[in-house]
Amino acid sequence: MTDEKSSGFFEGRFYNKKALKLKILDLIRNKGLITKQQIAKELGINITTVSDLVNQFKDKNRIIKETGDGSSSGGRKPKVYTINSELGYIVGIDVGGTNTRGILTDLSGSLIHYLKVKTKAREGKDAVLARVISVVNELITLAKIPREKLFGIGMSISGIINSYEGISIFCPNIPGWENFPIKQIMEKEFNIPVCIDDSVRCAAVAEKRFGIAKDHDNFIFISIGKGIGMGAFIDGKIYRGSMGLAGELGHITVSEDGPLCNCGNKGCLEAIASGPGILKRAQEGIKNGIVTSISKEINNNFEKLSVEIISRAANEGDKFAYYLINRTGEYIGIAIAAALNLFGSDLVVLWGGILECGDIILDAIKRTVKMRALEFISKRVRIEKTSIGDNIAALGAAQTFIDMLYSESDYNILLKKF
Ligand SMILES: [Zn+2]
Repeated sequence: MTDEKSSGFFEGRFYNKKALKLKILDLIRNKGLITKQQIAKELGINITTVSDLVNQFKDKNRIIKETGDGSSSGGRKPKVYTINSELGYIVGIDVGGTNTRGILTDLSGSLIHYLKVKTKAREGKDAVLARVISVVNELITLAKIPREKLFGIGMSISGIINSYEGISIFCPNIPGWENFPIKQIMEKEFNIPVCIDDSVRCAAVAEKRFGIAKDHDNFIFISIGKGIGMGAFIDGKIYRGSMGLAGELGHITVSEDGPLCNCGNKGCLEAIASGPGILKRAQEGIKNGIVTSISKEINNNFEKLSVEIISRAANEGDKFAYYLINRTGEYIGIAIAAALNLFGSDLVVLWGGILECGDIILDAIKRTVKMRALEFISKRVRIEKTSIGDNIAALGAAQTFIDMLYSESDYNILLKKF
Protein backbone atom coordinates (compact mmCIF):
# COMPACT_ATOMS: atom_id res chain seq x y z
CA MET A 1 0.00 0.00 0.00
CA THR A 2 1.22 3.48 -0.73
CA ASP A 3 0.15 6.88 0.53
CA GLU A 4 -3.28 8.04 1.78
CA LYS A 5 -4.28 9.24 -1.70
CA SER A 6 -3.80 5.84 -3.34
CA SER A 7 -6.75 3.49 -3.57
CA GLY A 8 -8.99 1.40 -5.78
CA PHE A 9 -12.14 1.87 -7.76
CA PHE A 10 -15.47 1.48 -6.07
CA GLU A 11 -18.79 1.41 -7.91
CA GLY A 12 -17.14 3.17 -10.78
CA ARG A 13 -16.23 6.10 -8.55
CA PHE A 14 -12.73 6.95 -7.39
CA TYR A 15 -12.32 6.91 -3.64
CA ASN A 16 -9.25 8.06 -1.79
CA LYS A 17 -7.80 5.79 0.86
CA LYS A 18 -9.64 7.48 3.72
CA ALA A 19 -13.01 7.06 1.99
CA LEU A 20 -12.22 3.43 1.26
CA LYS A 21 -11.31 2.78 4.90
CA LEU A 22 -14.58 4.35 6.08
CA LYS A 23 -16.55 2.36 3.48
CA ILE A 24 -15.09 -0.89 4.80
CA LEU A 25 -15.73 0.05 8.45
CA ASP A 26 -19.29 1.11 7.62
CA LEU A 27 -19.90 -2.22 5.88
CA ILE A 28 -18.54 -4.16 8.87
CA ARG A 29 -20.82 -2.32 11.32
CA ASN A 30 -23.86 -2.68 9.07
CA LYS A 31 -23.32 -6.40 8.54
CA GLY A 32 -22.42 -7.08 12.17
CA LEU A 33 -20.19 -10.02 11.22
CA ILE A 34 -18.28 -10.29 7.96
CA THR A 35 -15.26 -12.00 6.38
CA LYS A 36 -12.53 -10.35 4.30
CA GLN A 37 -13.79 -12.26 1.25
CA GLN A 38 -17.31 -10.91 1.75
CA ILE A 39 -15.99 -7.34 2.07
CA ALA A 40 -14.00 -7.70 -1.15
CA LYS A 41 -17.03 -9.11 -2.97
CA GLU A 42 -19.49 -6.57 -1.59
CA LEU A 43 -17.33 -3.53 -2.44
CA GLY A 44 -15.83 -4.94 -5.63
CA ILE A 45 -12.24 -4.38 -4.52
CA ASN A 46 -9.31 -6.71 -4.48
CA ILE A 47 -8.73 -9.03 -1.54
CA THR A 48 -5.13 -7.88 -0.90
CA THR A 49 -6.30 -4.29 -0.33
CA VAL A 50 -9.06 -5.51 1.98
CA SER A 51 -6.70 -7.79 3.85
CA ASP A 52 -4.13 -5.02 4.45
CA LEU A 53 -6.77 -2.60 5.73
CA VAL A 54 -8.61 -5.14 7.89
CA ASN A 55 -5.31 -6.15 9.53
CA GLN A 56 -4.53 -2.51 10.15
CA PHE A 57 -7.96 -1.86 11.72
CA LYS A 58 -7.57 -4.92 13.92
CA ASP A 59 -3.95 -4.74 15.06
CA LYS A 60 -3.07 -1.07 14.89
CA ASN A 61 -6.36 0.82 15.35
CA ARG A 62 -8.30 -1.86 17.26
CA ILE A 63 -11.53 -0.54 15.67
CA ILE A 64 -12.48 -4.09 14.72
CA LYS A 65 -11.87 -7.49 16.27
CA GLU A 66 -11.74 -11.07 15.11
CA THR A 67 -14.60 -13.18 16.35
CA GLY A 68 -14.31 -16.90 15.60
CA ASP A 69 -14.42 -18.59 12.20
CA GLY A 70 -17.00 -18.18 9.48
CA SER A 71 -18.72 -21.03 7.72
CA SER A 72 -16.99 -22.49 4.73
CA SER A 73 -17.74 -25.18 2.23
CA GLY A 74 -14.56 -27.09 2.92
CA GLY A 75 -10.96 -26.03 3.37
CA ARG A 76 -9.75 -23.48 5.86
CA LYS A 77 -12.52 -21.51 7.58
CA PRO A 78 -12.30 -17.76 6.94
CA LYS A 79 -11.94 -15.37 9.91
CA VAL A 80 -14.97 -13.27 10.83
CA TYR A 81 -14.68 -9.62 11.87
CA THR A 82 -16.89 -7.28 13.85
CA ILE A 83 -16.71 -3.74 15.28
CA ASN A 84 -14.85 -3.54 18.60
CA SER A 85 -17.87 -1.99 20.33
CA GLU A 86 -16.14 -1.31 23.66
CA LEU A 87 -13.48 0.85 22.04
CA GLY A 88 -15.54 3.97 22.63
CA TYR A 89 -18.88 5.25 23.86
CA ILE A 90 -21.39 7.85 22.75
CA VAL A 91 -23.97 9.84 24.70
CA GLY A 92 -27.32 10.60 23.10
CA ILE A 93 -29.41 13.27 24.76
CA ASP A 94 -32.92 14.42 23.95
CA VAL A 95 -33.90 17.77 25.45
CA GLY A 96 -37.69 17.86 25.38
CA GLY A 97 -40.12 20.41 26.75
CA THR A 98 -41.05 18.16 29.69
CA ASN A 99 -38.29 15.54 30.02
CA THR A 100 -34.62 15.33 29.19
CA ARG A 101 -33.58 11.79 28.32
CA GLY A 102 -29.98 10.66 28.15
CA ILE A 103 -28.55 7.37 26.97
CA LEU A 104 -25.08 5.92 26.70
CA THR A 105 -24.32 3.55 23.86
CA ASP A 106 -21.26 1.66 22.71
CA LEU A 107 -19.71 2.09 19.28
CA SER A 108 -22.34 -0.22 17.75
CA GLY A 109 -25.20 1.89 19.10
CA SER A 110 -26.29 -0.69 21.71
CA LEU A 111 -27.93 0.87 24.76
CA ILE A 112 -25.89 0.61 27.97
CA HIS A 113 -27.39 3.18 30.33
CA TYR A 114 -30.46 5.38 30.42
CA LEU A 115 -31.45 8.42 32.49
CA LYS A 116 -34.51 10.66 32.58
CA VAL A 117 -34.81 14.00 34.38
CA LYS A 118 -37.33 16.84 34.23
CA THR A 119 -36.21 19.58 31.83
CA LYS A 120 -37.77 22.37 33.94
CA ALA A 121 -37.63 24.73 30.96
CA ARG A 122 -39.20 27.55 32.97
CA GLU A 123 -36.04 27.84 35.09
CA GLY A 124 -34.37 29.38 32.05
CA LYS A 125 -31.77 28.60 29.41
CA ASP A 126 -28.75 28.31 31.72
CA ALA A 127 -30.51 26.00 34.20
CA VAL A 128 -31.55 23.69 31.34
CA LEU A 129 -28.00 23.69 29.97
CA ALA A 130 -26.57 22.86 33.43
CA ARG A 131 -29.02 19.95 33.69
CA VAL A 132 -28.00 18.63 30.26
CA ILE A 133 -24.33 18.78 31.28
CA SER A 134 -25.02 16.94 34.55
CA VAL A 135 -26.93 14.18 32.68
CA VAL A 136 -23.86 13.57 30.49
CA ASN A 137 -21.57 13.48 33.56
CA GLU A 138 -23.90 11.15 35.41
CA LEU A 139 -24.02 8.73 32.48
CA ILE A 140 -20.21 8.58 32.38
CA THR A 141 -20.13 7.88 36.13
CA LEU A 142 -22.88 5.24 35.87
CA ALA A 143 -21.10 3.42 33.06
CA LYS A 144 -17.76 3.62 34.90
CA ILE A 145 -15.90 4.45 31.70
CA PRO A 146 -12.73 6.57 31.52
CA ARG A 147 -13.52 10.02 30.06
CA GLU A 148 -11.22 9.51 27.09
CA LYS A 149 -13.46 6.64 26.00
CA LEU A 150 -16.38 9.01 25.43
CA PHE A 151 -16.06 9.70 21.69
CA GLY A 152 -18.83 12.23 21.36
CA ILE A 153 -22.32 13.49 22.11
CA GLY A 154 -25.37 13.55 19.87
CA MET A 155 -28.12 15.98 20.89
CA SER A 156 -31.76 16.06 19.90
CA ILE A 157 -33.78 19.25 20.34
CA SER A 158 -37.37 20.00 19.29
CA GLY A 159 -37.53 23.09 17.17
CA ILE A 160 -35.91 24.60 14.12
CA ILE A 161 -32.34 23.41 14.30
CA ASN A 162 -29.47 24.24 11.99
CA SER A 163 -27.74 20.89 12.26
CA TYR A 164 -24.72 21.94 10.18
CA GLU A 165 -23.76 24.87 12.37
CA GLY A 166 -25.07 23.31 15.58
CA ILE A 167 -27.39 26.19 16.38
CA SER A 168 -30.85 26.00 17.89
CA ILE A 169 -32.60 28.67 15.82
CA PHE A 170 -36.10 28.45 17.29
CA CYS A 171 -36.97 26.28 20.27
CA PRO A 172 -40.51 26.91 21.54
CA ASN A 173 -40.10 24.43 24.43
CA ILE A 174 -37.07 26.06 26.01
CA PRO A 175 -37.24 29.84 26.40
CA GLY A 176 -33.87 31.39 25.60
CA TRP A 177 -32.62 28.65 23.28
CA GLU A 178 -33.16 30.89 20.24
CA ASN A 179 -30.08 31.33 18.07
CA PHE A 180 -28.30 29.35 20.75
CA PRO A 181 -24.92 27.85 19.68
CA ILE A 182 -25.39 24.66 21.70
CA LYS A 183 -22.85 22.55 19.78
CA GLN A 184 -20.08 25.05 20.44
CA ILE A 185 -20.99 25.34 24.14
CA MET A 186 -21.10 21.58 24.68
CA GLU A 187 -17.86 20.99 22.77
CA LYS A 188 -16.12 23.55 24.98
CA GLU A 189 -17.53 21.92 28.11
CA PHE A 190 -16.54 18.33 27.27
CA ASN A 191 -13.73 18.84 24.76
CA ILE A 192 -15.14 16.18 22.41
CA PRO A 193 -17.16 16.49 19.18
CA VAL A 194 -20.88 17.18 19.54
CA CYS A 195 -23.60 17.08 16.89
CA ILE A 196 -27.13 18.40 17.23
CA ASP A 197 -30.27 17.84 15.21
CA ASP A 198 -34.02 18.26 15.41
CA SER A 199 -35.77 15.57 17.47
CA VAL A 200 -37.87 14.37 14.53
CA ARG A 201 -34.85 13.81 12.29
CA CYS A 202 -33.11 12.04 15.20
CA ALA A 203 -36.15 9.81 15.76
CA ALA A 204 -36.24 9.01 12.03
CA VAL A 205 -32.60 7.93 12.21
CA ALA A 206 -33.44 5.59 15.13
CA GLU A 207 -36.42 4.16 13.21
CA LYS A 208 -34.14 3.43 10.26
CA ARG A 209 -31.50 1.67 12.38
CA PHE A 210 -33.66 -0.16 14.93
CA GLY A 211 -37.32 0.04 13.88
CA ILE A 212 -39.79 -0.82 11.16
CA ALA A 213 -37.96 1.32 8.57
CA LYS A 214 -34.85 -0.89 8.79
CA ASP A 215 -35.28 -2.22 5.26
CA HIS A 216 -36.60 1.00 3.75
CA ASP A 217 -34.23 3.44 2.03
CA ASN A 218 -37.06 5.87 1.25
CA PHE A 219 -39.55 6.68 3.99
CA ILE A 220 -40.98 9.64 5.83
CA PHE A 221 -41.18 9.87 9.60
CA ILE A 222 -43.77 12.26 10.98
CA SER A 223 -44.10 13.56 14.51
CA ILE A 224 -47.42 14.94 15.72
CA GLY A 225 -47.48 16.26 19.27
CA LYS A 226 -46.94 19.76 20.63
CA GLY A 227 -45.50 20.51 17.21
CA ILE A 228 -45.48 18.76 13.83
CA GLY A 229 -42.33 17.82 11.95
CA MET A 230 -40.93 15.38 9.43
CA GLY A 231 -37.72 13.49 8.82
CA ALA A 232 -37.33 12.21 5.26
CA PHE A 233 -34.98 9.37 4.32
CA ILE A 234 -33.94 9.56 0.70
CA ASP A 235 -31.88 6.73 -0.79
CA GLY A 236 -30.83 5.52 2.63
CA LYS A 237 -29.85 8.91 4.05
CA ILE A 238 -31.67 11.41 6.22
CA TYR A 239 -32.33 14.55 4.16
CA ARG A 240 -31.26 17.83 5.81
CA GLY A 241 -31.22 20.17 2.84
CA SER A 242 -28.74 22.98 2.16
CA MET A 243 -29.53 24.80 5.40
CA GLY A 244 -29.61 21.74 7.64
CA LEU A 245 -33.26 22.11 8.59
CA ALA A 246 -35.33 20.34 5.94
CA GLY A 247 -38.62 18.66 6.90
CA GLU A 248 -40.70 21.44 8.44
CA LEU A 249 -44.00 19.82 7.45
CA GLY A 250 -45.77 21.57 10.35
CA HIS A 251 -45.29 24.93 8.66
CA ILE A 252 -46.89 24.26 5.32
CA THR A 253 -50.14 26.12 4.79
CA VAL A 254 -53.27 23.95 4.92
CA SER A 255 -55.81 26.74 5.48
CA GLU A 256 -55.05 30.09 3.87
CA ASP A 257 -56.86 32.20 6.46
CA GLY A 258 -56.38 29.77 9.32
CA PRO A 259 -55.15 30.50 12.85
CA LEU A 260 -51.88 32.26 13.61
CA CYS A 261 -48.89 29.92 13.98
CA ASN A 262 -45.86 30.18 16.31
CA CYS A 263 -43.73 30.84 13.23
CA GLY A 264 -45.64 34.05 12.48
CA ASN A 265 -47.53 32.67 9.48
CA LYS A 266 -51.25 31.88 9.22
CA GLY A 267 -52.96 28.53 8.71
CA CYS A 268 -49.93 26.28 9.15
CA LEU A 269 -50.67 22.59 9.74
CA GLU A 270 -49.08 22.90 13.20
CA ALA A 271 -51.41 25.74 14.23
CA ILE A 272 -54.42 23.52 13.44
CA ALA A 273 -53.48 19.87 14.01
CA SER A 274 -50.88 19.89 16.82
CA GLY A 275 -51.98 19.30 20.43
CA PRO A 276 -52.26 23.05 21.20
CA GLY A 277 -54.02 23.56 17.83
CA ILE A 278 -56.71 21.00 18.71
CA LEU A 279 -57.26 22.59 22.16
CA LYS A 280 -57.65 26.02 20.57
CA ARG A 281 -60.26 24.74 18.10
CA ALA A 282 -62.14 22.95 20.90
CA GLN A 283 -62.15 26.09 23.03
CA GLU A 284 -63.48 28.21 20.16
CA GLY A 285 -66.28 25.72 19.48
CA ILE A 286 -67.36 25.55 23.10
CA LYS A 287 -67.26 29.36 23.44
CA ASN A 288 -69.47 29.57 20.34
CA GLY A 289 -72.06 27.45 22.14
CA ILE A 290 -71.58 24.00 20.59
CA VAL A 291 -73.21 21.31 22.72
CA THR A 292 -70.62 18.76 23.83
CA SER A 293 -69.90 16.51 26.81
CA ILE A 294 -66.49 18.19 27.06
CA SER A 295 -68.11 21.35 28.56
CA LYS A 296 -69.45 19.33 31.48
CA GLU A 297 -66.17 17.55 31.99
CA ILE A 298 -64.11 20.73 32.24
CA ASN A 299 -66.85 22.74 33.94
CA ASN A 300 -66.04 25.84 31.86
CA ASN A 301 -62.46 25.83 33.12
CA PHE A 302 -60.44 25.80 29.92
CA GLU A 303 -57.24 25.16 31.87
CA LYS A 304 -58.55 21.62 32.38
CA LEU A 305 -59.02 21.03 28.64
CA SER A 306 -56.70 18.34 27.26
CA VAL A 307 -56.36 16.25 24.11
CA GLU A 308 -56.94 13.23 26.36
CA ILE A 309 -60.37 14.54 27.44
CA ILE A 310 -61.35 15.35 23.84
CA SER A 311 -60.14 11.97 22.66
CA ARG A 312 -62.08 10.13 25.38
CA ALA A 313 -65.25 12.08 24.53
CA ALA A 314 -64.78 11.24 20.83
CA ASN A 315 -64.43 7.54 21.60
CA GLU A 316 -67.56 7.69 23.77
CA GLY A 317 -69.59 9.08 20.88
CA ASP A 318 -69.50 12.86 21.46
CA LYS A 319 -70.14 14.33 17.99
CA PHE A 320 -68.12 17.55 18.40
CA ALA A 321 -65.11 15.71 19.88
CA TYR A 322 -65.30 13.16 17.06
CA TYR A 323 -65.47 15.97 14.48
CA LEU A 324 -62.40 17.66 16.00
CA ILE A 325 -60.23 14.53 16.04
CA ASN A 326 -61.43 13.31 12.64
CA ARG A 327 -60.84 16.74 11.07
CA THR A 328 -57.36 16.85 12.63
CA GLY A 329 -56.59 13.51 10.98
CA GLU A 330 -57.84 14.88 7.65
CA TYR A 331 -55.57 17.94 7.85
CA ILE A 332 -52.59 15.73 8.72
CA GLY A 333 -53.56 13.38 5.87
CA ILE A 334 -53.56 16.28 3.37
CA ALA A 335 -50.01 17.20 4.39
CA ILE A 336 -48.80 13.59 4.31
CA ALA A 337 -50.33 13.08 0.85
CA ALA A 338 -48.42 16.15 -0.37
CA ALA A 339 -45.18 14.83 1.15
CA LEU A 340 -45.77 11.42 -0.46
CA ASN A 341 -46.39 12.99 -3.87
CA LEU A 342 -43.09 14.85 -3.47
CA PHE A 343 -40.92 12.02 -2.15
CA GLY A 344 -42.64 8.90 -3.51
CA SER A 345 -41.86 7.05 -0.27
CA ASP A 346 -43.34 3.59 0.36
CA LEU A 347 -43.54 3.91 4.15
CA VAL A 348 -44.85 6.57 6.53
CA VAL A 349 -43.98 6.17 10.21
CA LEU A 350 -45.98 8.20 12.73
CA TRP A 351 -44.79 9.27 16.19
CA GLY A 352 -46.17 11.48 18.93
CA GLY A 353 -48.82 12.08 21.58
CA ILE A 354 -51.67 12.69 19.13
CA LEU A 355 -51.63 9.02 18.17
CA GLU A 356 -53.08 8.25 21.59
CA CYS A 357 -56.37 9.49 20.10
CA GLY A 358 -56.53 5.96 18.69
CA ASP A 359 -58.25 4.68 15.58
CA ILE A 360 -60.32 7.80 14.87
CA ILE A 361 -57.26 9.86 13.96
CA LEU A 362 -55.35 7.02 12.30
CA ASP A 363 -58.34 6.07 10.14
CA ALA A 364 -58.84 9.72 9.10
CA ILE A 365 -55.15 10.03 8.17
CA LYS A 366 -55.20 6.80 6.12
CA ARG A 367 -58.51 7.65 4.42
CA THR A 368 -57.31 11.14 3.45
CA VAL A 369 -53.96 9.90 2.15
CA LYS A 370 -55.80 7.33 0.02
CA MET A 371 -58.02 10.08 -1.36
CA ARG A 372 -55.37 12.80 -1.88
CA ALA A 373 -52.07 11.13 -2.78
CA LEU A 374 -51.50 9.88 -6.32
CA GLU A 375 -53.20 6.51 -6.70
CA PHE A 376 -49.99 4.78 -7.70
CA ILE A 377 -48.43 5.86 -4.41
CA SER A 378 -51.45 5.52 -2.12
CA LYS A 379 -51.99 1.92 -3.22
CA ARG A 380 -48.48 0.93 -2.23
CA VAL A 381 -47.68 3.06 0.81
CA ARG A 382 -47.84 1.65 4.34
CA ILE A 383 -48.73 3.96 7.23
CA GLU A 384 -47.58 2.67 10.62
CA LYS A 385 -46.99 3.86 14.16
CA THR A 386 -43.39 3.88 15.40
CA SER A 387 -42.15 0.63 16.93
CA ILE A 388 -39.67 2.32 19.28
CA GLY A 389 -40.45 3.62 22.78
CA ASP A 390 -39.78 6.88 24.65
CA ASN A 391 -36.01 6.80 24.08
CA ILE A 392 -36.38 7.09 20.31
CA ALA A 393 -34.99 10.62 19.92
CA ALA A 394 -32.07 10.04 22.34
CA LEU A 395 -31.23 6.76 20.56
CA GLY A 396 -31.40 8.58 17.23
CA ALA A 397 -29.20 11.41 18.49
CA ALA A 398 -26.49 8.92 19.50
CA GLN A 399 -26.97 7.08 16.20
CA THR A 400 -26.65 10.34 14.24
CA PHE A 401 -23.26 10.84 15.87
CA ILE A 402 -22.26 7.22 15.19
CA ASP A 403 -23.30 7.55 11.51
CA MET A 404 -21.02 10.57 11.25
CA LEU A 405 -18.10 8.59 12.69
CA TYR A 406 -18.32 6.26 9.71
CA SER A 407 -18.83 8.90 7.04
CA GLU A 408 -16.61 11.52 5.47
CA SER A 409 -17.10 14.37 7.90
CA ASP A 410 -15.23 16.30 10.56
CA TYR A 411 -16.41 13.58 12.92
CA ASN A 412 -14.45 10.61 11.61
CA ILE A 413 -12.26 10.53 14.66
CA LEU A 414 -12.17 6.75 14.29
CA LEU A 415 -9.36 7.22 11.80
CA LYS A 416 -7.85 10.32 13.40
CA LYS A 417 -7.79 8.98 16.92
CA PHE A 418 -5.49 6.02 16.53
ZN1 LIG B 1 -46.02 27.89 11.09
